[in-house]
Amino acid sequence: MSVDTSLEVLSDNLWHLTHRVAERLRSGRVLLLGGAAHTLSPSGGFGMNTGIAAAANLGWKLAAALAGWAGPDLMDSYAAECGPIAVRSLEEANRNLRRTLDRSLPPELDHDGVDGRAVRAAMARRLEQSGVDREFRSVWVHLGTRYRSTVVVDDGTPESPPGPDGWSPSAAPGCRAPHVDLGGSSTIDLFGAGYRLVVCDGAGPGALAGAEELAAAFAERAVPFQLAPLPGQRVRDAYGAPLVLVRPDGHVAWRAASVPDDPGALVDTVRGGAW
Ligand SMILES: Cc1cc2nc3c(=O)[nH]c(=O)nc-3n(C[C@H](O)[C@H](O)[C@H](O)COP(=O)(O)OP(=O)(O)OC[C@H]3O[C@@H](n4cnc5c(N)ncnc54)[C@H](O)[C@@H]3O)c2cc1C
Repeated sequence: MSVDTSLEVLSDNLWHLTHRVAERLRSGRVLLLGGAAHTLSPSGGFGMNTGIAAAANLGWKLAAALAGWAGPDLMDSYAAECGPIAVRSLEEANRNLRRTLDRSLPPELDHDGVDGRAVRAAMARRLEQSGVDREFRSVWVHLGTRYRSTVVVDDGTPESPPGPDGWSPSAAPGCRAPHVDLGGSSTIDLFGAGYRLVVCDGAGPGALAGAEELAAAFAERAVPFQLAPLPGQRVRDAYGAPLVLVRPDGHVAWRAASVPDDPGALVDTVRGGAW
């Protein structure tokens, strides 16, 4: 069946494959993200995801600046955190592209019969050996982002090995706080509006008193914050510490067994310094 319909070509552009990440993501009041900050080969499908993650990173920082509670270094942390992630996405996209370009297709690939089957089996083995599944098992690229910056308090947790094998969700500082099923909702549904202190099993009376002091320090600085008590061993196992401070973008800013002696200093660190 054919259908007659009128068509108007509005734009006809050549697309050029480019692998580029901007040297700087910030210049004063100008901040770059998405396609303005990086253009990656589509191999892997990382471009838009990298851009959306950067938008989530920058969005709450802009909101904090507009609301007046951002410290002086918060905006710079955007480039410090997202620049290396854009480079990592670019390198992985390039690795995928290289693998595809290096692949040759034997002319007998679609032949019927035993010969064709043998060629296809050999091709399947070569594909597997070349690590092609890395391009399609890429959840570690999308969800395995771990930020390093002055607004994240490192707790010494080693970096996960890059690649699909060996990566698992983690609540190490800088990582995306993991999903745990809360029976109809998820831990990650709790994040977004401000900082959340996830209080897990194992938080003793000292830690709970510290959590209240931390809440007061956030309130003094007019930084949006809520306590999120989440009893249950599954949350404790996934979050790895009794107290886990999660930022508005769902990434962990700090975690420990107890709040430090100066909770105000911790708040100032994670909001980008004190004025
Ligand atoms: C072939 C291909 C396949 C892809 N596949 C994937 C994938 O599977 N997964 C994935 O995550 N990503 C993929 N990407 C990447 C993804 O498309 C980009 O990362 C994403 O579109 C970037 O979004 P953006 O809004 O930052 O920029 P863009 O989508 O480029 O949007 C910018 C807009 O601004 C407009 N504009 C430019 N200059 C001006 C101006 N002066 N005034 C007004 N408007 C202007 C443009 O016309 C455009 O509409 C792919 C890209 C390509 C090319």
